[in-house]
This record gives sequence, C-alpha cells and structure tokens, in this order.
Amino acid sequence: MRLTVVGCAGSFPGPDSAASCYLVQADDADGRTWSVLLDLGSGALGPLQRHLDPADVDAIALSHLHPDHMADLCGLYVYLKYRPDGRTRAPLPVHGPVGTEPRLEEAYGTEAGERLVDQLAVRVWQAGGPVQVGPLTLTPVAVHHPVPAFGVRVAGPSEDDPDRTVVLAYTGDTDACEGVDALATGADLLLSEAAFVEGRDDAIRGIHLTGRRAGEAAARGGSGRLLLTHVPAWNSTDAAVLEAREVYDGPVEAARAGTTVRL
Ligand SMILES: [Zn+2]
Ligand SMILES: [Zn+2]
Repeated sequence: MRLTVVGCAGSFPGPDSAASCYLVQADDADGRTWSVLLDLGSGALGPLQRHLDPADVDAIALSHLHPDHMADLCGLYVYLKYRPDGRTRAPLPVHGPVGTEPRLEEAYGTEAGERLVDQLAVRVWQAGGPVQVGPLTLTPVAVHHPVPAFGVRVAGPSEDDPDRTVVLAYTGDTDACEGVDALATGADLLLSEAAFVEGRDDAIRGIHLTGRRAGEAAARGGSGRLLLTHVPAWNSTDAAVLEAREVYDGPVEAARAGTTVRL
C-alpha cells in the first residue's frame, strides 16, 4: 500500500499545496492497481492529475462535508461527464456522511433533469461498516468535529510483503476523542490533522487536534509512525512536529504535497 499526499493544506489551499486529498493505492494478486482517494478538497483535482487519470480512481472516501475536503468533487463531476475521449465507466463510488448527495447537488448547482449520481455513486458511511475496494478495506470511524465526521482506517497489503496487512489511519478533521484513539490503535501510519496550536487555540475545543494531541493519540495507540497534516498556511509545520515529538517517541513528519510513503 502506498500513500501519495495530493493536498495537505489545512482549511483552504495554501501556496504550496491544495487542501486535503490523499491517494492510497495497492496492487492486487493479478497486478492491477487499485486507487482510493481520502477526501478531494479545494484545489486538489489539479495536482491529482500528476499522479493518475482521475477517471481511474476506484472509490472516494469523504471524511466530512467541509469544502476543504470535498469541494473538488464538482470539478471531478465535470471531468467524468464531459471528457471527450468517449470513454465510459461505471459511476464512481463516493462514500460520505449522511447528506453527501444533496450537498454535492447544491455545491455543483445541478440543473433540472441533471443528476450527479450518473457519474458519482454516493453511498452513506455506516460507522464501523467496512467497504472493500480491491485489496483495500476501508473502515469509517466517527470522530469529533462540528459536523458529522469520520476518520478512515485503510488496511491493505504491504509493499514489501503482500502477505502482510498494513494499516493507514486517517483522522479527517477532529478533536481528541475515542474515535481518534481507535484509529491510532495499532496503525502502521497515523495520518493525523494538526490544525490547532498549543497555547494559541486552547479555548476552542471540539474542532481540531494540535500536534501535541495528535502525538498523544499516536502514543496511546502505539502507532508506528505519525504524519501530521491539515496544517493551515498561517501555522508553522515545524511547530506542529515539535509539539508531537514532546509526547510521542516514534517517527514524526509533516506531510508535503507530492510525496509518497510506502507502507
Ligand atoms: Zn478541514
Ligand atoms: Zn472540517
């Protein structure tokens, strides 16, 4: 399984990255590559095309319906519907919280008789209910954010030893909660948001993690490594990493757009 950071900017696109989008890929026993997107936030459809043809994505997993996690589904709909090469495919499965389909219709502004579902097959997350995409198993876990939100555990074959299952856990947007701890437990890689800053944002709870709170979850859950993401342009990624390192002994890095991690 490999994780490519398509976009990692928090809350809005930054000068060096689109908003949240992570491409997770794994090869099955026949050598076919399966591709899943965790979120497709504002600006992410552009850099996604550096990594694959968006029509080759097998499924999209939406953590929640804030624009920095789903806005570019509007552009993807246009891409799938109007591409001139005549290629057709089955509607692309999009897994998301309750309300995903009407939100997409509203965001795109569908006209009478036009249906997004002709291109995007929207399915509602059932908490704890896994979704299979080729060799990848996606399990949504409810987390703590002002709107219905999920983290996703992705289990799949290791790059080095396909018989071994590895786990990537993505927090989506959340404050510390049982869900984050469940995601972190036993994960080979915890891909955790760290949008808030210790000391500056202490009074605002129930929205985001800090680097420290992400590190605490990784430590409690015994995660193998920690990749911090969703750091807004007005924050320092170095500060988030330092916060996490104070409480977590494993490897900590900040996500960078365009990089790939092999698991
Ligand atoms: Zn966000
Ligand atoms: Zn959010």
